[in-house]
Amino acid sequence: MANCAIVGANWGDEGKGRMVDLLTEEYDVVVRFQGGGNAGHTVINEKGKFALHLLPSGIFHKGVVNVLGNGVALDPQNLLAEMRELTARGVAVSPENLKISDRAPLLLPWHRDLDELEEKRLADRKFGSTKQGIAPFYSDKYQKKTVLAGELFYPEVLRAHLRGILEWKNLILSKVYGATPYTEEMLERWIAEAAEPLKPYICDVGAYLAAAQAEGRQILFEAQLGTLRDLDYGIHPFTTSSNTLAAYAPIGAGFPGAKVERVVAVAKAYSSCVGEGPFVCELFGEEAEKLREAGAEYGAKTGRPRRVGPLDLVATRYGVAMQAATEVALTKLDVLGYLERIPVCTHYLIRGEKRSDFPFPAALAEAKPCLEYFEGWRCDISGVRRWEDLPAAARAYVEYVEKAIDCPIPYVSVGPERESIILR
Ligand code: GDP
Repeated sequence: MANCAIVGANWGDEGKGRMVDLLTEEYDVVVRFQGGGNAGHTVINEKGKFALHLLPSGIFHKGVVNVLGNGVALDPQNLLAEMRELTARGVAVSPENLKISDRAPLLLPWHRDLDELEEKRLADRKFGSTKQGIAPFYSDKYQKKTVLAGELFYPEVLRAHLRGILEWKNLILSKVYGATPYTEEMLERWIAEAAEPLKPYICDVGAYLAAAQAEGRQILFEAQLGTLRDLDYGIHPFTTSSNTLAAYAPIGAGFPGAKVERVVAVAKAYSSCVGEGPFVCELFGEEAEKLREAGAEYGAKTGRPRRVGPLDLVATRYGVAMQAATEVALTKLDVLGYLERIPVCTHYLIRGEKRSDFPFPAALAEAKPCLEYFEGWRCDISGVRRWEDLPAAARAYVEYVEKAIDCPIPYVSVGPERESIILR
């Protein structure tokens, strides 16, 4: 057995949550290492349908310890709400199965406001933020203008620290945006209602992970979003504000020395993308509408209709390479069952040149997709559980993709339920 990261090959929403839910069976610890509550993993299991935003997907498994690492945008308000919702629905959440890094910086109440105010200022030039405060949070993290979860154990340090940040933040809120400033009383309320209840969960997760590993326990690292949203390697500036790559997992988890021997990149059998930015293979009109309907492509957090398109091999090849994926899980193959012929984007055309490599972000605006068509299988494959029982056209599609992205595809998912999986 080896440590494993489950990451997104594309723009996010590839179905990572269902893969973590499935693979958690084999692991003892599940760690979220980046991102915040701005996206959502959908998990369907015997307890029902859940949209997880911040909690690791291992939370449903008895005996699995879930960790929120220092790379996460820890939003106490959202996290508490999520914990309470799960508890109310019969899922156990306790300090035994959830551990929060004392080094996780806290997303403060004004981060959400600043997200909203900045999108409003940008008007039609907006980035399509989910307004969860993620970009203002990460900016402040790198400016060292937020507090760490562990400071809750040092109340005087915490208050002095927050007072200093409050003074600076109020200048920005009022002078730049003309917004209402925060008061110390508002912060006190936030500490008491949102932050203090998390104290029992906060600990040195680095020490915990190192000890767990020394005892032979295996760690699963769970990412949010996908390669193309990575702050450094994605479609800048339409990325998220954290690193979505597997290489970042040990750093963001709190265990920099961890080895990640397995990287499962999750890719969808077609493409979807939430928010603004270049999306070369985008479909429009009725064709898009049908695919969106078939794949139920609406945001888990926002309910926004996702942009959709055929599988983009240029982006997926890049995504798989950047993730250094050792294997790929191809999800939602069942969704393509309605198509007579299946389009695939094999290359980009940029200024008359056919390109198979993923271009520099600024060149994407000019890129046009080159499509090839595959024979559809035109039937419902959601009940299939064995590779040899898939229609020949579906097998040919998977084999073609495997070759094109140069990475084995041992998992083919044909439905959202835990058991709707074909192991090759
Ligand atoms: P994540 O953020 O990468 O976990 O992805 P999301 O949860 O946002 O999106 C995946 C969606 O597709 C969820 O609603 C899943 O329940 C669903 N899903 C995952 N795998 C499959 C599949 O193989 N077939 C179908 N039809 N739905 C799937």
